[in-house]
Amino acid sequence: MSNYSAIFNCPGCGSPLEIQEGTISLSCSYCELIMRVGSPGRILKYFFESDLDDFTVKFAVERHLKKKGFPLKFERLESRQFHLPFYRFRGMSYALLSEKVAGDDDEEHLMPLKKKVFHRKCRHFDLTIPAFDNKSFGLDSLGVRPEVMPLTAYRKEIFPHESIQVDIEVSPEEAKEKAMAMFFFNLGFAAANKECLSSEMIGEGLSVIYYPVWAYSIQQNNMSSTMFIDGLNKRVFHETPGIFEYRTSGMDRSRAEEINPVQHKCPNCGFDLPASESSLFYHCENCQRSYLIEDDDYVLTDMACAQYETGKKFHPFWQFEFEVENNDTVGKFSRMLTGEIPLIAKSKANNPFYIYVPAFRTANLSMLTSLGIRLCRVQPEIGVEKRNFSPGAEMVLPKSEAIELARFYWNVIRSKYQYLGGAEYDFDPGKLGQEKIIWLSLSRSYSQSKKFGFKKVKLHA
Ligand SMILES: [Zn+2]
Ligand SMILES: [Zn+2]
Repeated sequence: MSNYSAIFNCPGCGSPLEIQEGTISLSCSYCELIMRVGSPGRILKYFFESDLDDFTVKFAVERHLKKKGFPLKFERLESRQFHLPFYRFRGMSYALLSEKVAGDDDEEHLMPLKKKVFHRKCRHFDLTIPAFDNKSFGLDSLGVRPEVMPLTAYRKEIFPHESIQVDIEVSPEEAKEKAMAMFFFNLGFAAANKECLSSEMIGEGLSVIYYPVWAYSIQQNNMSSTMFIDGLNKRVFHETPGIFEYRTSGMDRSRAEEINPVQHKCPNCGFDLPASESSLFYHCENCQRSYLIEDDDYVLTDMACAQYETGKKFHPFWQFEFEVENNDTVGKFSRMLTGEIPLIAKSKANNPFYIYVPAFRTANLSMLTSLGIRLCRVQPEIGVEKRNFSPGAEMVLPKSEAIELARFYWNVIRSKYQYLGGAEYDFDPGKLGQEKIIWLSLSRSYSQSKKFGFKKVKLHA
């Protein structure tokens, strides 16, 4: 997995712990302290440490001049270290595209019929977007460069004080918008014959990463220029004429926080909860209560699973009561979604219509999307019971993101029916009824054990 690792010190024993960026909870491998460091929606700050010093920076500059065939003699005007802030987004992108293609040859028509076909594209993404506006630094993406080095969890006391923290002038929302536009553009979704009907970008992780860069200004033959040296690979990657001026205002629009581990205990009985890299769902073995991590809180939730097939591997799903144009039961939806034969069953007619969103992670996003949409189209009759079971997968999807996916699923389902294209059939999150997490046993293996990589996307602004 191309997760970046990050280092921070255990609040219990002070040992340096290496965790995956975005970790929710963990247990210290030295003192066994159980703690939580993450929660959905929380943006954490990290930085890369650089072992460059004035001597190695000068060496990098000389190497650069030599390569360009310039004399090595110069006057050093200024040398300053900066840390450039980047947002890093990881997650999944979903797009529903319609494409006009020539239909089958039809002898009665001289012109080939144009027909619309729909494509669903689901991908993992992992990209970095500058959180600063100043283009002079010449760095608009971290690309793949930081993967070799672990990050350090940002704390003011340990941040190199001689380095200038560049202002964060871009908000997470602006960065997300920009990322989305670039991402879809880079995937060629903007093709002329394709129309994007619906797209969602579901974030698994958002963080701020400070990247070290040196600005080294020199004078040579009465000309001054500034070279920018990458703090990790120690090479000049960019050059501008003149001395480089930069003044910070201390602005930070990221809302990012320092890592601040808290106790990971049952709010009811104080028993340690299990530790998990990415789970948002925790069950207390002592008092048998279950919790969801939400906005940094432990929110009591049910452990509810399908009655049938006990002992199978249970996977978590969000289940939302859904309503559109006063249709809220399976019976009413069956009159609207006329092609969905399973909806006709009389026994289901009065059941609420649910949108199901898988809340676990798997390498194959298309398979996962198909599974969710299939459940929505079938509206299986599921008897749910509250009891303990051992989960077969981690629950990783917060409600806010499940709602965005629910919108996408609905858009995919209705795309088959032209008369459902109007705005009155749009997904309205305000009309979602009760939601809950239910655990369904799956006959197919959606195993997490196979490690999967996020697709690397090279972005060019
Ligand atoms: Zn410890
Ligand atoms: Zn408890």
